[in-house]
Amino acid sequence: MNFSIALVPGDGIGPEVIAPATEILDAIGDIYGHVFHYVELEAGGKAIDSAGEPLPQETLEAAKQCDALLLGAVGGPRWETLPGHLRPERALLGLRSGLGVFANLRPAVLLPQLKDACPLKDEVLAASHPEGKPTFDLLIVRELTGGLYFGTRGRSEDGKTAFDTETYSWMEVERVLRAGYAAATVRRKKLCIVDKANVLESSRFWREVAAVVSKDYPDIETSYLYVDNCAMQLIRAPGQFDVIVTSNLFGDILSDEASVLTGSIGMLPSASLGSPQDPLAKNGHPMGMYEPIHGSAPDIAGQDRANPLATILSAAMMLRYSFGLEKEAHAVEAAVSAVLDAGLRTQDIARRTSTPGSEKIVGTKAMGAAVLKELSR
Ligand code: NAD
Repeated sequence: MNFSIALVPGDGIGPEVIAPATEILDAIGDIYGHVFHYVELEAGGKAIDSAGEPLPQETLEAAKQCDALLLGAVGGPRWETLPGHLRPERALLGLRSGLGVFANLRPAVLLPQLKDACPLKDEVLAASHPEGKPTFDLLIVRELTGGLYFGTRGRSEDGKTAFDTETYSWMEVERVLRAGYAAATVRRKKLCIVDKANVLESSRFWREVAAVVSKDYPDIETSYLYVDNCAMQLIRAPGQFDVIVTSNLFGDILSDEASVLTGSIGMLPSASLGSPQDPLAKNGHPMGMYEPIHGSAPDIAGQDRANPLATILSAAMMLRYSFGLEKEAHAVEAAVSAVLDAGLRTQDIARRTSTPGSEKIVGTKAMGAAVLKELSR
């Protein structure tokens, strides 16, 4: 089959992590008989430099024509002093809302090979795991196109007051909850709604919607947790969670916290999905924007030190969710796992206490090449 992919390498380490991901997609194409056609687009800092704005209209329009979008990262110190509407990160918000990708799936899994990179003690991990194992496997579903990041914001005339607004419609809450329930249905059938309903009206509204929507999923155990408690529980007992559904702001923060437990932010992929019924959906599969959850990491950019696995695993999610290629997605994930089994580590996932001989520290290119070699075996 043929697929078109809007490719936004972006800034900082973005192009470095996108390069191995496309090589791996091409290898998948060769092995399984697909053709991936890339449409390279500018957004973020690069677009500010070349077009004077973070998300040129041509970029968005071209992305809409493609089957899915794969993004590295945008931003960096060079553009940090620009006014808010011209900052590179604006491109992310524009792409997410323009493509209608409202459900951000962020899996956080502690791979057995990376157990030593997790800062939690084995006994802490095991205590909350259903089978007493020192690991966890959770999925954060973050609402992506509403809430505080898209609400009315501003300053008073005298400049002495600023405000942002958390606004959610019934439809926005319902569709992300349904995305969470759909995910929970094929996982361990537990869904936790994280909010601040003891203080925020918008959170109490989420609970009202959830009370109605949850009736359609009687086999899923629904629970509720305040966000401050959730932040604590993620560290105290991550194994208790299966699927967490939460707002844009809370999901942003909690998924970064969860990423630390997996060993490194360089390991975590994400998929942002629209509805399969949207006009941009192709062949019954939702439009999707796929990206690692990390940023452009200016501190290590251009040094061949970035971990490309989060981006490679994001490409695997693209194969699964937007192209319906489950076997191919699994092949990429298995190749990543095999490379980790063989002891290859980028610096960020290297053992804190090193055991000589058991690990080999490699750079971005060598890690990508190893996954590619594993795939072609
Ligand atoms: P960051 O995720 O870029 O970096 C945080 C830390 O994690 C750094 O120490 C970095 O070296 C490390 N890190 C990140 N990705 C890594 C990888 N793949 N391998 C190894 N180490 C990795 O977050 P930040 O420093 O807060 O932000 C830097 C820039 O990125 C800012 O301009 C920010 O706005 C932007 N940003 C972009 C996105 C995005 O494009 N989706 C997301 C977050 C931040």
